[in-house]
Amino acid sequence: MKRDELLDLNDAIQHPGRKIAVDISTELPDEADLDLAKPLEGWIEAVSTGNLLLIEGEFKTRCVLECPRCGAPIEQDVDFTMDEQFPITGTPAMYGTGEFAKIEPDEPYELFHENSLIVENLVREGLIINLPVQPLCEHGWEEPCPEAEARQVAAKEEKRGLLADHLEALLRKEQADGS
Ligand SMILES: [Zn+2]
Repeated sequence: MKRDELLDLNDAIQHPGRKIAVDISTELPDEADLDLAKPLEGWIEAVSTGNLLLIEGEFKTRCVLECPRCGAPIEQDVDFTMDEQFPITGTPAMYGTGEFAKIEPDEPYELFHENSLIVENLVREGLIINLPVQPLCEHGWEEPCPEAEARQVAAKEEKRGLLADHLEALLRKEQADGS
């Protein structure tokens, strides 16, 4: 599903009580910070009360996260539910007043285009909120982590190497200046 793939909810918004339900499967291709090992799958159900659009959903995926200690990739299942409400203004068309109801979102990020939901934006927000805060690889914080140690050693060696290069350059410059 592309970023601008829209789920038209106008039918539900003009007919309070009428449900729209869809199955969702997306790989969130525009998301650089999120690495999914499996597509995000689930469903969304939308219904209007007349002045509120209620959106419920349930999703699951498998994310590739990074151990903050050693940088090792960690695959973790993530599942979450969504239960959102968005204000609606105007009179739904079903009441025959010649008016139309319109979704009036108060979110800082773009979730709707007119009466259509930008599904991927909603799902992305839900996923980000529900990501594990501090995933850790099998070594955890207590156990010594060979990867973390190796990284420290590599960093130390790199520093030492840089210092050696620097000294060598200085010596060479001194020799050149002295001759
Ligand atoms: Zn680790």
